[in-house]
Amino acid sequence: MRYLILSDIHANLDALEAVLQAAAASYDRVVVLGDLVGYGPEPNEVIDRVRALDPVAIIRGNHDKVAAGIEDSEGFNAIAQRAASWTLGRLTPQNRDYLVSLPAGPLSLDPLAEICHGAPFDEDAYIFSELDALRALRLSRRQVCLFGHTHFPVVFRLSDTGFDVLTERGESELEVPLEKGVKYLINPGAVGQPRDGDPRAAYGLLDEERRRMKLFRAQYPLEAAQAKVIRAGLPPALAERLAAGR
Ligand code: ZN
Repeated sequence: MRYLILSDIHANLDALEAVLQAAAASYDRVVVLGDLVGYGPEPNEVIDRVRALDPVAIIRGNHDKVAAGIEDSEGFNAIAQRAASWTLGRLTPQNRDYLVSLPAGPLSLDPLAEICHGAPFDEDAYIFSELDALRALRLSRRQVCLFGHTHFPVVFRLSDTGFDVLTERGESELEVPLEKGVKYLINPGAVGQPRDGDPRAAYGLLDEERRRMKLFRAQYPLEAAQAKVIRAGLPPALAERLAAGR
């Protein structure tokens, strides 16, 4: 099975469409690591598109919980709060119900991999530090743990002989062979709001048979997405950060 791994789409339909086009024919099923909505201008369109893809596995993110009314936006900064209440007011009842129905991670994908939004020990935790990555690697019940939430593509590897970290560093592709005796904690990056300084949409492909994970970047019509943010009346900072990739 070849999985297309999508995380943190954040209501950015232009980015999602570009990724689907770039990855077309390279995958069998879609996996979503949460945060379908929040920040971006097309929450209903993105949820409709994701539902049509019929993901083999999908979990909720913190923004999905707020948009679904499961949690309040108290922990969000002012801009995220404004975007969250804007989203809440626009979701169709069906799409809101869909977000309510999404399970919390961690969720097993298959005997090789499991998925979570933040961390396997807490769906809302951010894995930035090597200490948290080590904790996640030790707690993960699979050889591969896929996560999102930080919007930062990264691969942590742990074996009996060592621990290390891989990043894309401006490349368009990072290939990671999944070796025996090594555990992997992998963030494919954000489709809809990258924060590693590269504005291109980020995604991953996991080939379960070939034991290989690849991280990719795809160009998308950035100006069109920015214009939609402004037209929607969302904070302009949300349009600016798309171009900065921050
Ligand atoms: Zn997110």
